[in-house]
Amino acid sequence: MKIDLRSIYRFHPIDQSDALPSGGDVYYECECGDIVSSVSFVKAACKCGNVAGGQGSVTTQSPEKVKPLRGKLR
Ligand SMILES: [Zn+2]
Repeated sequence: MKIDLRSIYRFHPIDQSDALPSGGDVYYECECGDIVSSVSFVKAACKCGNVAGGQGSVTTQSPEKVKPLRGKLR
């Protein structure tokens, strides 16, 4: 079952420097609209396959299509 993280977290954009930030409260919003945790321990991927992760790290095929967000629990 897929959980919409937007129903759990309030997301704020992060000022992006060069590399994508990562951390426990950092999430990646892909251009396809899906949000994936930057340090996902469960297997996770967005629907277009650009962002895929698991076991504590996430890889992005095209980082320029990803927007880092900071998530706070609602
Ligand atoms: Zn995607």
